[in-house]
Amino acid sequence: MPATRSTSRSGVSFLGVSFAGIEKRFGSFFALRGISLQIHSGEFVALLGPNGAGKTTLLRTAALLAAPTRGKVQYTNSEHPGQPLDPSATKRQLGMVGHTTLLYDELTAAENLTLFGQLYGLDDVSARVTNALGTCGLGSRAVSLVRTFSRGMRQRLAIARALLHGPRVLLLDEPAAGLDRAGLTWFSATLENLRKDGCTVIMSTHARNESLELATRAIVLAAGTVQHDSGEQGDPRPLLAALRADA
Ligand code: ATP
Repeated sequence: MPATRSTSRSGVSFLGVSFAGIEKRFGSFFALRGISLQIHSGEFVALLGPNGAGKTTLLRTAALLAAPTRGKVQYTNSEHPGQPLDPSATKRQLGMVGHTTLLYDELTAAENLTLFGQLYGLDDVSARVTNALGTCGLGSRAVSLVRTFSRGMRQRLAIARALLHGPRVLLLDEPAAGLDRAGLTWFSATLENLRKDGCTVIMSTHARNESLELATRAIVLAAGTVQHDSGEQGDPRPLLAALRADA
């Protein structure tokens, strides 16, 4: 069954993203070479490939954090797939977990989320923050400074921050890094709920973990190109089988 859906359980429409002929050059080096992909709303894409393949660079272009040297990234609303959305309107609908957590060490966990919620102009920030900290397992550390957090705790908070505004597309760059078993279980359950509600997910990973059970598609990059793509209706499992649990 295709993953594509036009609206969520709550009636909100979701976003798809297309990459058309994306090139990204750093000087004379091509990090991405002519990537063309159509990711439909509600897909859960596992983005695979060796170190330096271009996964982070592709996710950063998708997050509109890095402009491609050539080509276009465009988001479309599932209700009007023929009409590309204005990037400034799209940005608020994206949630990104990158290699750096984008947290302020000298603020508490609650202050970090509150600041982010205020920057996004969210309503009920205080309730959202309390709920987010509770569900990510940091409720008892709400008033601890982030500089006192372990790596896994920081990662949980970075994920909670990326989800606070209810994004319609999640861009995850090795998000499970540093999570313990309980953290992975929370993370997988959270992704499953988002998926059920039609959120589009693109997640890079080197390691096999339970969140990959949710993948509806696997794309393998190599040297800045798409080497394999199981496709929207294909079976991602043969490509995922190459991943090791302890990678
Ligand atoms: P990893 O699995 O190690 O995280 P990746 O697939 O995410 O790798 P990228 O981080 O996207 O790979 O890097 C792709 C290529 O682009 C690499 O060769 C990298 O050195 C190069 N690159 C990325 N960012 C820059 C930059 N700011 N300046 C120069 N080269 C860069």
